Amino acid sequence: MIVVMRPGATREQIAQVRHAVEEHGLDAFVSEGEERTVIGVVGTDLEQVAHLGTLEGVEQVVRITQPYKLASVEHHHERTRVRVGDVSVGNGGGLVMMAGPCAVESRDQLLQTAHWVQREGARILRGGAFKPRSSPYSFQGLGMPALELLSEARAETGLPVVSEVVDASQVQAFDEHVDLLQVGARNMHNFVLLRAVGQSRKPALLKRGLSATIDEWLLAAEYVLSSGNPNVILCERGIRTFETATRNTLDLSAVPVLRGQTHLPIVVDPSHGTGQRSLVGPMALGAAAVGADGLLIEVHPDPPNAKSDGDQSLSFAEFGDLMDELRRLQFVRDGTHAEAAQPAPANSGGRDLTALREQIDGLDERLAALLQERAILALQVQRIRGLDSHGHDVARERELLERAARGEAGPLTPEELTTVFSAVVRVSRAAQRRQASTGVANGIEGRA
Ligand code: PEP
Ligand code: MN
Repeated sequence: MIVVMRPGATREQIAQVRHAVEEHGLDAFVSEGEERTVIGVVGTDLEQVAHLGTLEGVEQVVRITQPYKLASVEHHHERTRVRVGDVSVGNGGGLVMMAGPCAVESRDQLLQTAHWVQREGARILRGGAFKPRSSPYSFQGLGMPALELLSEARAETGLPVVSEVVDASQVQAFDEHVDLLQVGARNMHNFVLLRAVGQSRKPALLKRGLSATIDEWLLAAEYVLSSGNPNVILCERGIRTFETATRNTLDLSAVPVLRGQTHLPIVVDPSHGTGQRSLVGPMALGAAAVGADGLLIEVHPDPPNAKSDGDQSLSFAEFGDLMDELRRLQFVRDGTHAEAAQPAPANSGGRDLTALREQIDGLDERLAALLQERAILALQVQRIRGLDSHGHDVARERELLERAARGEAGPLTPEELTTVFSAVVRVSRAAQRRQASTGVANGIEGRA
């Protein structure tokens, strides 16, 4: 810390600063310049002299080191890996998916969701028992009975559980039922709660306050660490800004900023960060791309009828699609429960699987060839009709899609078949458009 004195500060004022520093067991190095004097302050606990700026003759106090030491990368170069049950978060542990309902509503709702998100690859189950809401008139959660249900879901699935603790007096009860203590955005500045969580042996998920700066957030993390709990995970969940198009403004830049400042794992919650179901997927991918160690996602069996945060909760199918996309982009890698990671058993099950997969590969190859064959025919049609004509027959396309929607008997639904054939029609038009532009550019009229 450097204390800059005003020009013309008196000897007594300088001596007063030196005295205030040394009185707290810190060292003061006084350097007298032509115009002004600066005093370097060195020691481990500079918080004790945070008041130096108020002394007479002091112009400003400049902090050089971060006020958070335990959370800072300066003093802890290796990234921290936090164990939640048997799941590791941070330091190369891969993208850990935490998913489940905003609030636990019933046994059925929770268990159904737990099984589904586990099937899709989530590693930690979320579920609110106590819900601090934006309005006190909204559903506030089932309370203690919900903690029992979370325990039951954990026993059934083996998934560790994260849930929000809202009061210091609850920490002990949570210890019994929950594997990760969530401190919600509205409680990030609740220092009594932070201290209680800091004294727990369970790891903590510390959400960013609604209007907290990254520094304030790290100071809150520091408080938990300094209270004795070394296992803190930070969670970016959006901040309040002037923007009203989204519920909050999800600050994805916080992820790389934090990476430069702290060794603690960083998780992103795009559900509260956006407030809108359609934005959860894109922001989840964005969070994974900027280096988040995990994602916290709200999933509900029937989002329109959810008791809380239905607008931002993904349906089972939507969560499945997001997991597929995260896997396709290799943000999520199966390793724990995917049979692909294990050698096929020697008995017939393994051989059947290999044979079926070979059959699928063969079909995919034929499909690719058939699509090319179809595109060649579409180009011929366009040449016959003339390159300057758009070359497709809207009525025939509609019939094709209707035929698809009626669906052949099989596991694909009419909607799914429509999706496939719409794509086929779209790429075929794209090929025709390319032919038209190169044909026209080459001066070929191509009329038959
Ligand atoms: C939650 O995750 O259930 C929640 C209430 O989030 P936040 O504290 O971020 O609003
Ligand atoms: Mn919620």
